[in-house]
Amino acid sequence: MRIVLVGPPGAGKGTQAAYLAKNLSIPHISTGDLFRANISQGTELGKQAKAYMDAGNLVPDEVTIAMAEDRLDQQDAADGFLLDGFPRNEQQARALDAYLDRKGIRLDGVLDLEVPEAEVVKRIAGRRTCRNDSAHVFHIEYKRPKRDNVCDEDGGELYQRPDDTEDTVRNRLEVYHRETEPIIDYYKQQNLVVTISALGPVPEVTKRAMEALRHTQHQH
Ligand code: AMP
Repeated sequence: MRIVLVGPPGAGKGTQAAYLAKNLSIPHISTGDLFRANISQGTELGKQAKAYMDAGNLVPDEVTIAMAEDRLDQQDAADGFLLDGFPRNEQQARALDAYLDRKGIRLDGVLDLEVPEAEVVKRIAGRRTCRNDSAHVFHIEYKRPKRDNVCDEDGGELYQRPDDTEDTVRNRLEVYHRETEPIIDYYKQQNLVVTISALGPVPEVTKRAMEALRHTQHQH
């Protein structure tokens, strides 16, 4: 399957993407993770991206699209992928369509995770992420790690992403409404969108998502 995941920051995209990708045996491709890996490796791309990310703004399309296409070109994505955090605006969505056209393939579905705005800010401001794996996410109130600042999964250090502070979250939400939400309409025109609520326990949201994706696959 070839799937795009959209939703506001704090909807649980990264968490759900990891489970869904595992269930569907497809690679989880997160442009945010790719940028963060570049930053921790000190690459030129990482240096270019960092200031935009820290402010909660989008990294320019040119670099983002090139990076996403490079990743999609890798062998493990030949038969399917789950894109998390890309595309994030209409220009990126058009670039992705052009890329898929060139390869003679198409998306099976766009999964839209819905969550109320007040919930988003609460979720993100208390979020602590594992340095080793951004799918290992904890929360200082809702999902406390067994030991403070230590990941239950792999012992990695938990930290607050620099773009998870309250001010930056508000900006990320604005950017989401302005830039990213319009791609939902763009994909609705292609009849690809399924919307589910991202509220409730993680496994329940995953179940909802799997069910919703089964329907998209039947349609195409
Ligand atoms: P995420 O991990 O998906 O929340 O992404 C973290 C940050 O990385 C975003 O706030 C952006 O600054 C940057 N980023 C990730 N994906 C994209 C994208 N498709 N276009 C532009 N910037 C992106």
